[in-house]
Amino acid sequence: MTDRSGAVLRESRSRLPSVDRLARHALLQDPIACHGRPIVIQAIREVLEAVRAHASGSGSDESVPDAETRLAQQATLHLEQRMRPSLRPVLNLTGTVLHTNLGRAPLPPEALEAIAAVARGASNLEFDLERGTRGERDDHVAGWLSRLTGAPAAVVVNNNAAAVVLLLRALAARREVLVSRGELIELGGSFRLPDIMREAGCVLREVGTTNRTHLKDFEEAIGPRTALIMQVHTSNYRIEGYTQAADTRELSTLARAHDLPFVVDLGSGTLTDLTRLGLPAEPTPAQAMAQGADLVTFSGDKLLGGPQAGMVVGRADLIARLRKHPLKRALRCDKMTLAALEAVLRLYADPDRLTQRVPALRWLTRPAEALQSMATDLQPIMQGWLDARSGAGRWKAEVVNLKSQIGSGALPVESLPSAGLCIRSKAKARGTDLQALAKHLRELPLPVIGRIAQDALWLDLRCLDDPRSLQDQLLADAS
Ligand SMILES: *Cc1c(COP(=O)(O)O)cnc(C)c1O
Repeated sequence: MTDRSGAVLRESRSRLPSVDRLARHALLQDPIACHGRPIVIQAIREVLEAVRAHASGSGSDESVPDAETRLAQQATLHLEQRMRPSLRPVLNLTGTVLHTNLGRAPLPPEALEAIAAVARGASNLEFDLERGTRGERDDHVAGWLSRLTGAPAAVVVNNNAAAVVLLLRALAARREVLVSRGELIELGGSFRLPDIMREAGCVLREVGTTNRTHLKDFEEAIGPRTALIMQVHTSNYRIEGYTQAADTRELSTLARAHDLPFVVDLGSGTLTDLTRLGLPAEPTPAQAMAQGADLVTFSGDKLLGGPQAGMVVGRADLIARLRKHPLKRALRCDKMTLAALEAVLRLYADPDRLTQRVPALRWLTRPAEALQSMATDLQPIMQGWLDARSGAGRWKAEVVNLKSQIGSGALPVESLPSAGLCIRSKAKARGTDLQALAKHLRELPLPVIGRIAQDALWLDLRCLDDPRSLQDQLLADAS
């Protein structure tokens, strides 16, 4: 703070205007009309307190001679920050398409319309329109899930973690669940299979070794306390080298011989053959069912490209037990999720147009050439923004080839050829400079999220639908 504004402050602090007086200031009449008086009064109080406590300066905009106007401006700014939505859209330029921290799959317009339609008023969420009796909320999607997976029945809950908890609790409480040691996964956000088992009240019985598990190991582990056999798709890592996993079909035969349910947690669970879209293969629920799984669980917002949800599909008698279990009530989906899920599942009726209609699949299948030409168009605009912000000669933006990740644990080893911009310091930069640059990009009206690695900021354009959304705000911020 300069001496001069310090003096203004000292002088004004002794005779700060009252809250009521400031609330009558012309600048604050629109905010009062828009947000109501209480929150504006609160903002004024907080600004006055800050000035009194000397904690924050007066902003010391010398072009405003009038201390009251300056305080009113500060209150407006303070209010704007408070009233800005906390949860809001960002541009995901991290190169990870299904990014859990950035909301995973984007929804297609059909899903957004379906959400709005049922959220606006009453719906037949749990009402059978034909019979006029109580209905079942999951039935709005169960038919589609059956047709798309070949499973006779389905139940839907909040996410795949919830699906696993529900089925363990309903089918294996206080009894043993057999899982291969090579499949005891931890996913981000504290989903660790051994912990989930314990919380669900089951006893985890580890089978085989980390790299090799044979059918014989499962056979020997089966005892009077065994409740089910579980196979977990090791979605976020891969064991390579001298490995052996028990075959799905053989495991299902073994489970059947002992009258045990055989459950497969697929994690991502795509509903279409990804190789047809030019993507690496990922097992589908239909394949797991065909190989003899009794139940299959998978996520709604990973490769499926829908809302956050967890599906369990499979044998009707087992699904009926899950539907009846008290935990189902606690883990159930809301109407907006079910509306979005139904709309997305309907798009799967036409596999040939999936990459046009399901945004997650469109992002995953965008050709690198299109991203390269987008990067080439964006480069001079980014360079202009960097020069305007930090002075020419500070940063250099270059078009680069990149490798995108699918994300959410799906296909961890494979990557998708992509393109974007690499921003490096021309002089020797400190890590904090790069952090500050990344922060500037996050402070844009539509925050831009990149990735810092190897002393550079990387912006992968795979998830940038409309380059103007980036371009326009860079141009506006530079001017
Ligand atoms: C992602 C995943 C889960 C958890 O799914 P959420 O929908 O994130 O709860 C569970 N199991 C596997 C194998 C997964 O890949």
